[in-house]
Amino acid sequence: MIEAGDILKKMKNQKVNYDKVLRKMIQQWERENERPKILLHSCCAPCSTYTLEFLTQYADIAIYFANPNIHPKNEYLRRAKVQEMFVQDFNKKTGSNVKYIEAEYKPHEFMKMAKAKGLTEEPEGGLRCTACFEMRLELVAEAAIKYGYDYFGSAITLSPKKNAQLINQLGMDVQNVYNVKYLPSDFKKNKGYERSIEMCNDYNIFRQCYCGCVFAAMKQGIDFKQINKDASAFLQQF
Ligand code: SF4
Ligand code: SF4
Repeated sequence: MIEAGDILKKMKNQKVNYDKVLRKMIQQWERENERPKILLHSCCAPCSTYTLEFLTQYADIAIYFANPNIHPKNEYLRRAKVQEMFVQDFNKKTGSNVKYIEAEYKPHEFMKMAKAKGLTEEPEGGLRCTACFEMRLELVAEAAIKYGYDYFGSAITLSPKKNAQLINQLGMDVQNVYNVKYLPSDFKKNKGYERSIEMCNDYNIFRQCYCGCVFAAMKQGIDFKQINKDASAFLQQF
């Protein structure tokens, strides 16, 4: 099965169009009559919407919810539940068979990493985010090996707030360490982001108001009491 590196070697431009790389890989799967198994990281439902609509045409997908960065716990549980419900609704509506896998919540590991690397005061978009992306890509790569997937990747390249170039470069590095193929992407392209907004409306999906970690949320002035209250009220329905 093709690796992204085989295509990247032939692309000479500095700023790689990772959407183009993905589409070339898809062409190769089609030529070879392959339907790969992909484990795709996501940190809440919105980025997985269009991403699933697009990828399920060509591959068997499982969403992997592994996000030790999310604080507080009730908010983590709410985002996980919304993600799981979206996967169920999407399967019902489209006849797909997307799986949902949730990792154990280990927030102390994210805190330990951020403190050990001296990243607690970094602004959003800075070095803490690089380490956070890398940590979660490593978790999904490990799980892809454990569960026997052909590729690991991330749905969050759909977000215009996230640096897709950086995420893809990290994914390529993680691929070399973990011996499992990385799926490059830039799902926001080809109106992917616009389509995700339509799908969030169609599926009535909750959109979070901060990225996830306590550090960025505090800088943003997030009211954790209110977040806890809203998340608990949501979770009590189940
Ligand atoms: S990047 Fe933001 S919108 Fe996208 S899945 Fe993660 S938290 Fe949700
Ligand atoms: S702002 Fe978001 S991406 Fe950056 S470290 Fe916090 S949770 Fe991770």
